[in-house]
Amino acid sequence: MVEPVVVIGAGPAGISAAWQLAKRGIPVEVIEQDSVVGGLAKTISHRTGLRYDYGPHTFHIRETESSRRVVSEVQSLLNGQYRLLDRGTRLYLKGKYFVYPPEMSEAVRKVSLGLGLRIGWDYMYAALRYALNPAKHEDSFEDWGVRNLGRTLYDTFFGLYSEKVWGISMSQVSSRQAHRVAKLNLKNIILRMFKFKADPETYFIQYFYPHSGIGNLYQRMAQEVQSLGGTVHLNATATRIETDGQKVRAVAFEQAGRERVIFCQGLVSTLPLSVVTPMFARVLSPTTLEMAEKLDYCSLILVYLVINRPRVTDYHWCYLIEPKFRCNRFSEQKNVSPELLPEDKTVLCFEASCRHEDNLWRTTDADLGRMAIKDLVQMGILRPENVEEHFVTRIRHAYPIYRLGFERVLCALLSELHQVRNFYTIGRHGLFMNNSMDDNVEMGMRLAAHIAEREAREIWWQSVLRWTQLEGVAAS
Ligand SMILES: Cc1cc2nc3c(=O)[nH]c(=O)nc-3n(C[C@H](O)[C@H](O)[C@H](O)COP(=O)(O)OP(=O)(O)OC[C@H]3O[C@@H](n4cnc5c(N)ncnc54)[C@H](O)[C@@H]3O)c2cc1C
Repeated sequence: MVEPVVVIGAGPAGISAAWQLAKRGIPVEVIEQDSVVGGLAKTISHRTGLRYDYGPHTFHIRETESSRRVVSEVQSLLNGQYRLLDRGTRLYLKGKYFVYPPEMSEAVRKVSLGLGLRIGWDYMYAALRYALNPAKHEDSFEDWGVRNLGRTLYDTFFGLYSEKVWGISMSQVSSRQAHRVAKLNLKNIILRMFKFKADPETYFIQYFYPHSGIGNLYQRMAQEVQSLGGTVHLNATATRIETDGQKVRAVAFEQAGRERVIFCQGLVSTLPLSVVTPMFARVLSPTTLEMAEKLDYCSLILVYLVINRPRVTDYHWCYLIEPKFRCNRFSEQKNVSPELLPEDKTVLCFEASCRHEDNLWRTTDADLGRMAIKDLVQMGILRPENVEEHFVTRIRHAYPIYRLGFERVLCALLSELHQVRNFYTIGRHGLFMNNSMDDNVEMGMRLAAHIAEREAREIWWQSVLRWTQLEGVAAS
């Protein structure tokens, strides 16, 4: 009997890999600790009958060839049961909503001409200063922001907000964070002001969203895996990896209090690197295990407020820039998919980031509810009596933190793990990347093709370096 490829984690990366492996006739078994598939992008049924996502989750459509390929393949699973949406993101600042990514004309109109002039002046000053004196040390997010946006635009729209999200000074965060999340610069903002196209990877303007929740996309993939002969084990926690030399031999998981072991031809993991690396303790050096511990994560608390109104805003989500708001952003899922909620109610989801060790992580649900209601009331859009009830979800590993110098640690760790010949680590936490669902689906699909076509392992390593942008680090 041919041994299966085992995939740990049925989030977008893992379940896409499993779907594409099964499609290519390769036996596959997926181990997922949750009771549903979808990972961070799952859709949950609440006891009240409401269905909700883990924070706002829309599938980005970018103006690139690879994005078009991925989008068309995944949409084919949904039989037309999805809608296309234009980006509906806002920033809330000084009592006003601003389009995101920011538009200069709106900033000038809604704040002041003085602000517009200061933004322009600061940008020219920064551009000249950095041209005469290029950065010699490692670039932080703050250095990058001031250089590309000018001090005023950076401080007003990005600096304060980013410190609230990451909980550390942005002078301690690598500029890699800016490249991944925003890739913004004043040139792009001005191009958009005059209706020219900007960077196609950053300025995705369309999303798609399945009528019955984003998690439905990943459920469809799981159904395909099963109909093609694969297995998806739910409520199953991977606990142990057995190795034979530099090769994975088997994976153990716990389900309903029992341990089961699957012998496998290959292993795909989407676990956080800090979780999977210790499972290789027998083949990796203590230094490698220490490296994994250095990778740091931001956690996230989601507070859902059930509101006794049909709708509160017209936006998908809105960033709360000022520090007076404890939450980073809120979203209104009804504006993405009205089907998920009753007509007379809406749900606002408030997100607050923190560290796993923080007091906020241990705060009671009742106090977290009060915290979100306080932000809502401060915005002046609703009164506390409009909130019928609330519920809370906590995500331990939400965002990898790109501390200055993380690239060297990550590159060394990945290259050690790459020595295990039939092991692949992919996905947001598997490669320590602040990336999106579409990136992870593409990665899963690419890995399945690599395994099926028996490509040389070096080809896979080059893809990993390209995705993680570590080519330069690996070469040095
Ligand atoms: C609040 C928020 C909003 C977001 N919004 C968007 C958006 O609008 N658009 C977008 O494109 N992206 C968005 N993202 C990013 C997106 O959610 C991720 O990029 C994507 O889900 C990552 O997929 P993944 O498969 O790599 O990892 P995950 O989704 O984290 O999946 C990993 C899976 O592994 C499972 N697992 C963990 N440990 C074990 C174990 N020991 N045994 C078995 N299984 C295990 C987990 O239960 C999980 O199902 C958002 C992220 C967050 C946090």
